[in-house]
Amino acid sequence: MPIVSAQSLLETLNGLPHASLGFYPTPLHRLDRLSRELGISLYLKREDLSGVSVFGGNKIRKLQYLLGECLRQGCDSVVTFGATQSNHAMQTAAACRRCGLNPILFLTRIVEPDAQSLRANLLLDHLYDAQVHLVPLDIDREAFAKSCIAQWEQEGRRCYVIPAGGSNEVGATGFAECYAELATQLEAEDIPAEYLVHCTGSGGTLAGLAAGKKLLGGRLRILSVASGPKDEEYEEQVAQLSTRAIGQLGFDAQVFPEELSVDRGYYLPGYEQANGAATQAIRLLARTEGLLLDPVYTGKAFSALLDYVRTGKIPQKSTVVFLHTGGATALFSEPQIVGKLAYPP
Ligand SMILES: *Cc1c(COP(=O)(O)O)cnc(C)c1O
Repeated sequence: MPIVSAQSLLETLNGLPHASLGFYPTPLHRLDRLSRELGISLYLKREDLSGVSVFGGNKIRKLQYLLGECLRQGCDSVVTFGATQSNHAMQTAAACRRCGLNPILFLTRIVEPDAQSLRANLLLDHLYDAQVHLVPLDIDREAFAKSCIAQWEQEGRRCYVIPAGGSNEVGATGFAECYAELATQLEAEDIPAEYLVHCTGSGGTLAGLAAGKKLLGGRLRILSVASGPKDEEYEEQVAQLSTRAIGQLGFDAQVFPEELSVDRGYYLPGYEQANGAATQAIRLLARTEGLLLDPVYTGKAFSALLDYVRTGKIPQKSTVVFLHTGGATALFSEPQIVGKLAYPP
């Protein structure tokens, strides 16, 4: 049973502090050629086209609420965390510049960057003139940041801290918004969508979508594909985050871990490490539709979608929405992340 209508949820969201960063609603469109090839009706929801720049992505929706809160608190600087090729860190830097805020990034060297030739998001971070701190894998970056922040605040700066991926209850409300926006588009265009497939990393996107689904009801099944290893508590943590996001919106309802479907079967050999199935998925979308996926997130989630169709987990003739969360800059990152895209297998 719906707790609220999409219209009224969108009005509630509009009443929260938010910075206007992206171009919404993001497009929803059908992939005719690939639909025919797969025997399903496949739509893309284009969070990759969110703005601020041509390299937008799913973090912009979260940042609208996060930076709204940052500005409301009168902060001048934003501190956040990620890998050296973090999409979230890069989008935070862009969003900060749009709002006149100072971006400060603590980036873990999961994949070692080439100091002589900065690539992809790390290059963009420098172009946005973010203050970049590269942190070795074995250092506690949150603790390191905390000591830096204490120092900066003594000097009179005011820092707003955003967790990795922007995944707290403020950021997650952005994806309750995305869910309501999608529900509105599906209804207006009379699209009988049954499945929503997306990639999950830090969990804020999933938490927000699950909050939206809890509030609006409906039969859309959310199938989440992990971008890296997730421990046993992941579902519990995301469910709690989802419940907190619902609270943030002023409603009272609980999301349970059993309501989430997180597939850990498609990220191997690891986060930011290319695999053959994702490489093939990227090549397939490029070849049949002229569209780009990325090797770290959307390529792996799309390889899961293809496998679900192949094995009947998603039956023939189903209507499926794939949430394109962005990430295409990874196509121009370190070779270990890119994989063998240019060569046929
Ligand atoms: C961050 C990211 C995700 C995962 O979103 P979370 O909210 O961190 O789970 C998926 N795809 C891309 C391209 C991303 O940058």
